[in-house]
Amino acid sequence: MIDFAQRTIDLARQNVAEGGRPFATVIAKNGEILAESANKVAQTNDPTAHAEILAIREACTKLGTEHLVGTTIYVLAHPCPMCLGSLYYCSPDEVVFLTTRDGYEPHYVDDRKYFELATFYGEFAKDWRDRRLPMRYEPRAAAVDVYRFWQERNGGQRTATVVPPG
Ligand SMILES: [Zn+2]
Repeated sequence: MIDFAQRTIDLARQNVAEGGRPFATVIAKNGEILAESANKVAQTNDPTAHAEILAIREACTKLGTEHLVGTTIYVLAHPCPMCLGSLYYCSPDEVVFLTTRDGYEPHYVDDRKYFELATFYGEFAKDWRDRRLPMRYEPRAAAVDVYRFWQERNGGQRTATVVPPG
């Protein structure tokens, strides 16, 4: 029996030793490791190269699906909003986190121009007009037409995908 939590910790420790940031993700399916990754932001300058994103991409590519039903996803820390969103999108059976923000914050901080670790979920919950990230709504009828075109090409159905059972 693989200790997926320990594997997640080991991956993150190894990443820190190699100059990376202290995060890792392991995706388990049927008692095996389907995919895994550490955070690669420091190594790649890609702000989306969080461990969750990279591991989800690898798992979905391997399985040939955008749904990770039937998997358990282990993460070193409670996910950031970007990763939480991607976890919602891929529909795993369960997400297991091994530390909280409060637990690691005395040792690691990753504040940004528009949010701090302590406030980022609050920022996301606000109406778009009230967020610190400047956003502008520029309505165009032709933008909705793209969705109408998609629906026409999809036999009149709106539904883009069906989550597999199980
Ligand atoms: Zn993240």
